[in-house]
Amino acid sequence: ERRPLADLAASLVQDVPDFPEPGVVFKDITPLLADGAALKAVVEDMASRAPGPIDLVVGMEARGFILGAPVAVALGAGFIPVRKAGKLPRETLAGAYELEYGSAVLEVHPDTIRDGSRVLVVDDVLATGGTAAATVALLEKAGGVVVGLSFLMELTFLGGRDRLPGRPLDVLLSY
Ligand code: AMP
Repeated sequence: ERRPLADLAASLVQDVPDFPEPGVVFKDITPLLADGAALKAVVEDMASRAPGPIDLVVGMEARGFILGAPVAVALGAGFIPVRKAGKLPRETLAGAYELEYGSAVLEVHPDTIRDGSRVLVVDDVLATGGTAAATVALLEKAGGVVVGLSFLMELTFLGGRDRLPGRPLDVLLSY
């Protein structure tokens, strides 16, 4: 039964209206991160729902790092940071994606991904799905096999899951 955990997590996510711009309600997870018991329970829940064996957990900058790394440790998997352009020091593989205004680039060190690795993608919020779809494309270009994605929460009204057709998706909270 996941209800008690979902209720606990929901009580520790704070809505911040009009951040970072007017009209957006920012879902602030820092109160959840600051609660040791809740953080542990959320990470263990994400790890326990992974679809089969996982070789690598991928987290997107920056909150995907915070949740993804402990999920990787819980699974005995490696961790792969997907970063914004210009942050990784060695040869990178890059993927561009569209934002509401303009576009952005994500990068990964492809030599850290063994061909055929089973990959779980972790982030805090699935919003439009642009970041997650770009991450899936990047990881598969690098030779990984994305077997699932796990989010703390989904903003369903933004339709992000439509950009991840056929991908096993796990979310604890839906708004
Ligand atoms: P998207 O590419 O639209 O799915 O946006 C996903 C990324 O932006 C995630 O890495 C989230 O951390 C962040 N994000 C988008 N919308 C919100 C929101 N309302 N509150 C907090 N983070 C958000």
